[in-house]
Amino acid sequence: MEFIFLCSRVNALILLLTLCSPYKFIQSPMDFGPLNLLQTTHEASLDFGRIVFNTPSAVLKPRSKTDIALLLSSLSASSLSRVTVSARGAGHSIHGQAQALDGIVVEMESLPVEMEIHKRKGEDGISFVDVSGGALWIEVLKESLKFGLAPRSWTDYLYLTVGGTLSNAGISGQTFKFGPQISNVLQLEIVTGQGELVTCSRTENSELFYSVLGGLGQFGIITKARILLQDAPEKVKWIRAFYDDFDTFTKDQELLVSMPDLVDYVEGFIVLNEQSLHSSSVGFPGNVGFTPDFGTREKPKVYYCIEFGVHDYQLEHMNIDEVVRDISRQMSYMQSQLYSVDVSYFDFLERVRMEELSLRRQGLWDVHHPWLNMFVPKSGIVEFKDLLTESISPDDFMGLILIYPLLRDKWDGNMSAVLPEVGSTDQVMYVVGVLQSANPDTCNHRCLHDLLQHQCSFAQTAHDQIGAKQYLGHQPSPLHWRSHFGRRWDQFARRKSQFDPNYILGPGQGIFTNPHSASSALR
Ligand code: FAD
Repeated sequence: MEFIFLCSRVNALILLLTLCSPYKFIQSPMDFGPLNLLQTTHEASLDFGRIVFNTPSAVLKPRSKTDIALLLSSLSASSLSRVTVSARGAGHSIHGQAQALDGIVVEMESLPVEMEIHKRKGEDGISFVDVSGGALWIEVLKESLKFGLAPRSWTDYLYLTVGGTLSNAGISGQTFKFGPQISNVLQLEIVTGQGELVTCSRTENSELFYSVLGGLGQFGIITKARILLQDAPEKVKWIRAFYDDFDTFTKDQELLVSMPDLVDYVEGFIVLNEQSLHSSSVGFPGNVGFTPDFGTREKPKVYYCIEFGVHDYQLEHMNIDEVVRDISRQMSYMQSQLYSVDVSYFDFLERVRMEELSLRRQGLWDVHHPWLNMFVPKSGIVEFKDLLTESISPDDFMGLILIYPLLRDKWDGNMSAVLPEVGSTDQVMYVVGVLQSANPDTCNHRCLHDLLQHQCSFAQTAHDQIGAKQYLGHQPSPLHWRSHFGRRWDQFARRKSQFDPNYILGPGQGIFTNPHSASSALR
């Protein structure tokens, strides 16, 4: 382990006293010698959710990983430490997870992006990219495509940072096949809560490696990641099929994830109303002629849509259309309700960007996003869907509800990400993303508050009755976090005391209380 301790104790104390002084909001940048801490910015207390706005005392725009190590070693060297630190990636969290009330926000996007592609290196001939933690996935895609390569596992939206998604899991329609993004990491470089710069992998400093992946920013700041790459296809056949029956929809989804040799991507969503049909189709360049009858307000009718994708490179010895025909012959979608388009691999992965641009044009991107994502055991997916659809009114719902299957054996149980504990014999579990928007023009403070309250009790019921676990979630108290982690809690807490013993990192998650902090970020 390389231990970076560039600052004397005296400097550390000056830093600390200045942060805790009444002058912390002075208008000019604060200068701490080699550490250029800046006055807080608007972005540092803002995220995609637009629900929580915690203001830090200062912002660090690191020019190198050494700046991050210097900050954390300085803070942890003082036993009086009251200051907490959050890494902020692209700030696309929902509930202030990357914020630090009265602490310091480290703007990871300020780190110069370093990216090195290695094509078929080592004995195994594997390809990988070494990339800084503050890089966006879209940057990784663009660079690796220059070499005919690409990461295997994605998120739906690519304007998120490598460090941000690896701190959660990083899931999308490829997860059934390659696992979440955290299952596709070979090595990490971390600055721990004590300011140590550590390289870790499954074989070197492995406890830190497993802790940080899915670790919600609690154990260290990811400054570099080594990500597995595969040959990139040129084109993707992108297919949508519609259903009016939930059981048939999930049966077909499970059929598709049982064919990883042919299928490369599987997702799905509930078609609740006209809006959910149209907004989800912005990125889909096909002419969808599906004109469903949504029933009445008293007796609404909902539909379901499966999306799947097949890469062209899979099919050197086969015709892609024949393969899709063979697959779809085994499916039970509504008669004639199957639509397919050919798109470039880049456009396929960029599809949510199209939706973003469309929403931005309508002024509907920078609104409140009371999103809820949950992992649901297969045994409870019907009950979960019933609870969910009973609790929302299709006429009023703005947004999208994603549902798709994942396979447990693609997840490494030693990593920090939490999955449902029940149904251990079931390989399949589901992710359900209730991606709701609340426009302040039509949903005022009270309305947003009610939505959040309702969501909180829904999530609690789904947890207690079905064993569902929140993903990317917010828990109302440390006790709720314990219950979320379940039997994983002791391991998580032990890892925290090992890698961040002063409880400096990740206050915005509200999992731990900094014992020295008068204004701990627990909300
Ligand atoms: P931030 O919000 O900035 O940070 C998230 C957490 O990670 C914080 O706790 C922060 O302190 C910590 N963190 C950030 N950088 C680092 C670092 N370098 N080292 C250690 N900790 C760090 N998620 C999916 O899995 N699949 C999806 O398909 C998906 N689609 C999305 C689409 C949209 C439009 C949005 C807004 C979000 C989506 N997400 C998805 C959620 C997204 O993965 C998370 O919100 C993720 O945290 C965002 O990354 P970020 O860089 O914005 O992180």
